[in-house]
Amino acid sequence: MRRRRDDIELKTPEQIRSMRAAGLVVAAGLAAMAEAAKPGVSTYELDQIAREVLAEAGAVSSFLGYAGPPPFPGVICSSRNARVVHGIPSPDDVLADGDLLSLDFGAIVDGWHGDAAVTLAVGQAGPDALALSHACRTALWDGIAAARVGGRLTDISFAVQASVEDAGSYGIVAGYGGHGIGTAMHMDPHILNYGKPGKGPRLVAGMALAIEPMITLGSAETRQLADNWTVQTVDGSLAAHWEHTVALLPDGLWVLTAEDGGRAELAARGVPVSALAD
Ligand code: MG
Repeated sequence: MRRRRDDIELKTPEQIRSMRAAGLVVAAGLAAMAEAAKPGVSTYELDQIAREVLAEAGAVSSFLGYAGPPPFPGVICSSRNARVVHGIPSPDDVLADGDLLSLDFGAIVDGWHGDAAVTLAVGQAGPDALALSHACRTALWDGIAAARVGGRLTDISFAVQASVEDAGSYGIVAGYGGHGIGTAMHMDPHILNYGKPGKGPRLVAGMALAIEPMITLGSAETRQLADNWTVQTVDGSLAAHWEHTVALLPDGLWVLTAEDGGRAELAARGVPVSALAD
């Protein structure tokens, strides 16, 4: 692979195919956990399910042992309700009816990373919680659809912000955002979920980006808990978080962590899916 002047890793089509393998493991893990996420189930149990998916696929966790101190102890981040991201799975963290749960999962196959997150309603969540998650998911896809070869990085940021603002009065979490991804999980560039369009690096074929809006029912301010990982809203408001890993190719996008490659949501937005996804 080549590195550009601004140090964004560019992948060959063959390397993008390798990233798709990791993306499908991530999709399978999130689907398995979504099925199991019922009241009374702990986030530790969900983490165990994700570990099984990794083992069956011969894949390695992107998250386990990450950074620190302390090094991240799970293969998923599980963040309930006012927790935004980076929650640590635990046997004491038991799902309750009405919870809004963000699950974030990353996998490595042949050295290539995939990273995605979903927000789930556990049992019967309230209408505000469901609308929040829906707005966040829509903003994710609107952000993805704004990623075009020849465009600029903050076109994505702007599209996410515009989508959230169009959906209602939500807080867009400050500071956190998406990232480049490939031979490492977190690479340049950082992708804020707000800002003016037309700024930052030019988007070129071969880039892979993890786009991940995080929004709240209240303020955009967060704090990190004493575990040095969990990020929670300062005002205690509910948060949602959705994420996909997306590859930019000359003839369109390929959403590597979406089972359908992004076909349904991109078609609805008039954005082509690359023939590499066929
Ligand atoms: Mg990510």
